[in-house]
Amino acid sequence: MTAPDPRMRWWGWGEDGHDGPLSPGAQALLAEQIGPLPAGHRDPVALEDVRLPEPALPAAARELLVAAVGAEHVRDDRLARVTHAAGRGYHDLVRLRAGDAGGAPDAVVYPADAAEVAAVLRACAEAQVAVVPFGGGTSVVGGVEPLRGRFAAVVALDLARLDRLLAVDPVSLTATVQPGMTGPALEEALAEHELTLGHFPQSFEFSTVGGWVATRSSGQASTGYGRIDALVLALRVATPSGEIATRAAPASAAGPSLRELLVGSEGALGVIVEATLRVRARPSVRRYEGFSLPRFAAGTDAFRALVQAGAAPDVMRLSDERETQVSLAMSGGDGLTTRALKGYLRARGHGDGCLAIVGWAGTSEAELRRRRAAGAQLLRAHGAVVLGTQVGHAWEHGRFNAPYLRDELLAHGVMLETLETATTWDRLLALHDAVASAIDAALRARGTPPVVMAHVSHVYRAGASLYFTFVARQQAGEELEQWHAAKAAASDAILAAGGTITHHHAVGRDHAPWLPGEVGELGIELLRAAKATLDPAGIMNPGKLVDPAPLPGS
Ligand SMILES: Cc1cc2nc3c(=O)[nH]c(=O)nc-3n(C[C@H](O)[C@H](O)[C@H](O)COP(=O)(O)OP(=O)(O)OC[C@H]3O[C@@H](n4cnc5c(N)ncnc54)[C@H](O)[C@@H]3O)c2cc1C
Repeated sequence: MTAPDPRMRWWGWGEDGHDGPLSPGAQALLAEQIGPLPAGHRDPVALEDVRLPEPALPAAARELLVAAVGAEHVRDDRLARVTHAAGRGYHDLVRLRAGDAGGAPDAVVYPADAAEVAAVLRACAEAQVAVVPFGGGTSVVGGVEPLRGRFAAVVALDLARLDRLLAVDPVSLTATVQPGMTGPALEEALAEHELTLGHFPQSFEFSTVGGWVATRSSGQASTGYGRIDALVLALRVATPSGEIATRAAPASAAGPSLRELLVGSEGALGVIVEATLRVRARPSVRRYEGFSLPRFAAGTDAFRALVQAGAAPDVMRLSDERETQVSLAMSGGDGLTTRALKGYLRARGHGDGCLAIVGWAGTSEAELRRRRAAGAQLLRAHGAVVLGTQVGHAWEHGRFNAPYLRDELLAHGVMLETLETATTWDRLLALHDAVASAIDAALRARGTPPVVMAHVSHVYRAGASLYFTFVARQQAGEELEQWHAAKAAASDAILAAGGTITHHHAVGRDHAPWLPGEVGELGIELLRAAKATLDPAGIMNPGKLVDPAPLPGS
């Protein structure tokens, strides 16, 4: 088998054929909210015009890698290097579209199995070459940025060939899988056993099991199914010091949890080569529904009541006032329906209301009806108005399309960035306001006033996540500095207001400067000690997690 082709187009999200033009209504709304947009449509440069340094992999290192995986699985052609040059964060796309792949890896290596992964790590340790584990490459925090640290060369270790479901245990409800399986491949394989993992991040179509585990990702139905950390039963991880495996016990008191150390290790400790996951019966019935809440505060109260009463739907998503207004205005299509909906909500005192999407999935209609009745009752008690399943299912059907819109906005000179955090219920609204104000102030100061909006989408008994989206005119020629100003202001505000620097995107490069503020210097030392044990030469994913590197635009 030759090395697999890249899954995503090199300059943006996903595959060709899913982009739609920005409607005149959306363009008018943007111009009204953030100022006039530059004329024209800025397409990415051609692949041949991307600036790429000569590969710097020493011949001896290449020989060792070829011995590990075979010559056809060590690629240094333009397409392979450019598609592994960055993740899919805003700053990645800005650089790629402009033809800047200056930090591309010197080669991309495609091992076939766990033994070959171990052989690649041995080869890289011997040749002193940095290694960046690469799943789907959908990191939005610089997690797959091929930084070389103190090494002369860096390779991307692409796990695409480790793409099999290895075993299913229908008695214990577990599935053992290789790390390179994407969401659709995994769900398709589990469907043959009438099972599901239930992990649906927005990047589902292109991200991988290994990437999810390495970043502690959270799916859109995480309130019901749990985050990926809750779904991992056991792991096998190849490290430069050897393999480490955790035992598949349902729970254990055998000291601090090694599994917890490896989940979220972001390729900085080793490579996840196998994961045993907790799966469950595939749902046969689903109901997604829209509700309107009079205010964001009423919505968060309602969500807290639901989860604390043990009545949480599987999907819980609450937009703040701004996000609701923009979603309604951008819902496109039929302006009449949008106007009718707005009129209906105004008549019920929800003029500045907030949209909630809630969803239930199960294996029987009776169970679904019972759960839905309990949930809807609590929502109504907090002033919610039922909008019906049309709104809910429209969200369900469009939920993987939004990333294509970001590409189109970039073509119109518009910045669209997202970031996320979480905190306890008592601080949630203050955190929301602090982060929104910080982003607004940072971008206003640069003459590009933004629209900042947010939603809650992962809900726990003790608190919830906040996911911010902000849109502003790009500062031509200073796009990265503009991004950095907003990112730094938001990150400072998050820590000051008691949030975590990341609820599910991980630390990567972009959050590493703020990690000490969250875990303390002693905490960082402890993590560095673990890294020194598993990766004594420091070849694993330099510049990430506990090894801060300068950010783009800083
Ligand atoms: C449009 C979009 C939507 C997104 N939506 C969500 C969302 O809903 N929820 C969410 O949690 N995240 C989301 N993300 C972020 C991203 O998809 C997740 O972080 C995802 O888990 C990354 O998976 P991946 O396979 O693409 O990993 P990659 O991007 O390839 O890698 C991410 C990190 O994990 C490491 N890594 C990858 N594979 C392995 C392995 N086998 N062993 C060790 N380390 C490894 C890498 O070195 C890197 O540090 C989104 C991103 C985008 C662009």
